Amino acid sequence: MSTRININGVITGPEDARIPVLDHGLLFGDSVYETLRTYNGKPFLFPRHFARLEHSAAAIDLKLPWSKTKTREEIVRTLLAGECRIRLMVTRGVGELAADIETCTEPAVIIIAVPFVQLPERIYQQGVDVVISSVRRSGRLADIKTGSLIHQVLARREAKSKHAFEAILLTADEKISDGITSNIYMVRDGKILTPAHDAGIVEGITRNVILQLARDKGLQVVEGFFDVGEISNAEEMFLTSTTREVVPIARVDGRPVGSGKPGPVTLMLLSAYRSAIRELTDE
Ligand code: PLP
Repeated sequence: MSTRININGVITGPEDARIPVLDHGLLFGDSVYETLRTYNGKPFLFPRHFARLEHSAAAIDLKLPWSKTKTREEIVRTLLAGECRIRLMVTRGVGELAADIETCTEPAVIIIAVPFVQLPERIYQQGVDVVISSVRRSGRLADIKTGSLIHQVLARREAKSKHAFEAILLTADEKISDGITSNIYMVRDGKILTPAHDAGIVEGITRNVILQLARDKGLQVVEGFFDVGEISNAEEMFLTSTTREVVPIARVDGRPVGSGKPGPVTLMLLSAYRSAIRELTDE
């Protein structure tokens, strides 16, 4: 089986995985989720992902049905042989055909494990193209991960049509926010500049590790509000996410960032991240 799906504790292949059509996760995108991956066959930084899931669930008044321990056990039970990408979702569950959470009594837990596909190493060696999206990040509930992802879907379609690896979304007042599913950074004068929490970002688990590593290396980190025009002064740019680690950004809307090649700070942080994985695996 190349995909295993666990619905409320029952593991099947995708053909047999079913959720009821009256689940409000399907009807209203009323759900929360996390994307995790394994290293050495273990879910990486699971406690941090579970804490963010709790934060997301609390923000939409959803009670998580499983404890942290039970959730981890069920994830481990669902894993395939080899490294996996994992989506952990909790939906509001079955209710009436109305956006009324009180009609739903039992949340559903869904864990999907698929083989992890490693990005080609040339991505890290050459950097990627990103575009500025026409889709804006909404400020409300920006830092929680819900199943209402239509903005991400539209931004991904637009980025793909421009052959871009990722798109940068701006806030309503045109400040740099997140990528579609990544955090964004600029390097200037030896400082790491990255959008602050209130710039409508998701607090990436990878972001927290990277900012700590940067500080440990003596780099100054500035979390702030950056105009899109500041990209032209960046010496380097990169993005981070659980599944992609640290990816150098070579061009934005076709214009080279700095030299147009992955810069020394980006490559240093990529290598520091990969070294830190070993120590963080047992967390
Ligand atoms: N920003 C957004 C909007 C995301 O959806 C994600 C991950 O999916 C991230 C940033 C990166 O977060 P993490 O490092 O936890 O994968």
